[in-house]
Amino acid sequence: MTSDATGNGSLLPGAGQWMYRFVEELYPICRSITGEGTRETLRRIATQVPIDIHEVPSGTPAFDWTVPREWNIRDAYVKNLAGQRVIDFNKSNLHVLNYSAPFRGMVPLEVLREHLFTLPEKPDWIPYRTSYYKENWGFCVSQRQADSLRDREYEVCIDADLKDGSLTYGEYLVPGSTDQEVLLSCHICHPSLCNDNLSGIALTTWLATHLREMKPRQSYRFLFLPGTIGAIVWLSRNEKIASKIRHGLVVACVGDSGIPTYKKSRRGNAEIDRAVLLALRTRGSEYSVREFTPYGYDERQYCSPGFDLPVGSLTRTPHGGYPEYHTSADNLDLVRPAYLADSLSIYMDVIEILESNSTYVSLCQKCEPQLGKRGIYRALGGHPDAGKVEMALLWVLNMSDGKNSLLDIAERSNLAYKEIYQAIKLLVQHDLLKKS
Ligand code: ZN
Repeated sequence: MTSDATGNGSLLPGAGQWMYRFVEELYPICRSITGEGTRETLRRIATQVPIDIHEVPSGTPAFDWTVPREWNIRDAYVKNLAGQRVIDFNKSNLHVLNYSAPFRGMVPLEVLREHLFTLPEKPDWIPYRTSYYKENWGFCVSQRQADSLRDREYEVCIDADLKDGSLTYGEYLVPGSTDQEVLLSCHICHPSLCNDNLSGIALTTWLATHLREMKPRQSYRFLFLPGTIGAIVWLSRNEKIASKIRHGLVVACVGDSGIPTYKKSRRGNAEIDRAVLLALRTRGSEYSVREFTPYGYDERQYCSPGFDLPVGSLTRTPHGGYPEYHTSADNLDLVRPAYLADSLSIYMDVIEILESNSTYVSLCQKCEPQLGKRGIYRALGGHPDAGKVEMALLWVLNMSDGKNSLLDIAERSNLAYKEIYQAIKLLVQHDLLKKS
């Protein structure tokens, strides 16, 4: 890849707007772990980048799991005795318990209440709840809405199907000059939720569209999957490919105002862990790092012991860490173009490290080479950071014994990766260094 981290700047303001518009476009669609909403989301992604859309029939085994039935919803409501819709799926798709069983009938208020989910501490927000693996019907409403129900009974309709069909996921490979792979995976199973789900989809789609133009060294595999079951199904069908994955990131919650947060892979010191930490450290702004836990997004599956892939998760505020998480307040106001762009710039910096990290060997190992006589100091004369560049040159010359990679040198010197990379290029130009 030819781009430098410094070259990303001009792309990013437009990229933030582009990702935000894509979030807006996908926001109204009612997604779930299976069904037409998820398929439609993949079709919209396919208008940007030619992903393969895979269909896996219900009942297909996947390790200890089974592909579930397909859920499709047309309408859902609760009507009062005056015939008015007091809960209406058309106003928010969060109103229906996601993956709810179909139901029709007149229901006494006490029974209806047993099927309502609310958030008493945030009385205006609608919670997002699912019933994937335990059949149930229900509605999610604001506490105020629940409190306003006064009629003796209500007409309930959940016009949905829960039938054999298939699970749908999207996959796209940008081939590199080697078949070593970098995995970028996001979940696509949440309905109208922006940060949790759509921000990750938008950023992953942007990366997929742009990486294919960059002719990378490694191959990049993009997965757009329903959470948990999608990753399990993919791994069960692709064990051979999984063994080629050298680095991976689970992309989620990348559009909120929180600080960037990296959750390490189960290995804890994989190259991806070190690359992300270096990219974050180099930015000079606040960030947070967490050790691996077997909870969160699909890193749980990629890092299960039978795979133990070097896959971390780079988010802003992580899974469950913000009050709007899994509520109607995770909406188009929570996510902003500038935060999406900022997250993207970190991903691009990480990709630059993964693409360029190599080991070099100094061609002048017995004492320092004399840089002055080669005109290298003169070349630095007008450089605003001449002191830093000189330190980077000395570090690279000292550490380049064929054993230390750029990443090793950047970590040990506490200099930015970019500075080390520039020093490498300068020394190669002056025949003082070659790739080992
Ligand atoms: Zn979620």
